Amino acid sequence: MAFELPSLPYAQDALEPHYSANTLSFHHGKHHAAYVTKLNELIAGSDHEGKSLEEIIASSTGGLFNQAAQVWNHSFFWNSMKPGGGGSPDGALAEAIDAAFGSLEAFKQQFKSAGVGQFGSGWVWLVKDDGALKIVTTANAETPLTEGQVPLLTCDVWEHAYYLDYQNRRPDFIQSFLDNLVNWDFAAANYDEVASVAAE
Ligand code: ZN
Repeated sequence: MAFELPSLPYAQDALEPHYSANTLSFHHGKHHAAYVTKLNELIAGSDHEGKSLEEIIASSTGGLFNQAAQVWNHSFFWNSMKPGGGGSPDGALAEAIDAAFGSLEAFKQQFKSAGVGQFGSGWVWLVKDDGALKIVTTANAETPLTEGQVPLLTCDVWEHAYYLDYQNRRPDFIQSFLDNLVNWDFAAANYDEVASVAAE
């Protein structure tokens, strides 16, 4: 069973004007698709055939890890955005953000600063790490999954993620991600899943 490129969870033009259909056509239709194609080429006929994406990420290095992790990271990123996104989280996640960062506004500033400060290509994440909320960055294809952290949401800061819409203005892209695109429902669902597992 080969991996397939997952469909976007919204129409290609649904995030405009903050994230264009043109960007999504390249970012999802070309970049994400290429990671899926290369992953399938690398696992064909190998011991990794038939494993889940998470199993491959946990048990591979080098080129195979890079392709597998980039497939996973991008699927997670599409879900970290939604049409009409932004605003504030509510419920348990809102309380946890206030407790960890002081306020939503302080969280947004720290998340943006971390993403801007990630040198070269990578990702900025909100994760749950051993019970605590943290902002972490990863380089290239690296993912918090391999650190035992639970991702709640992510923003792709590879240049291919924003160049067509924002050119070199990564800070403006991350600000717009936080103000207009971020899917707090997705982050809250990930947080509640962790919380309920921890309570069992
Ligand atoms: Zn990307």
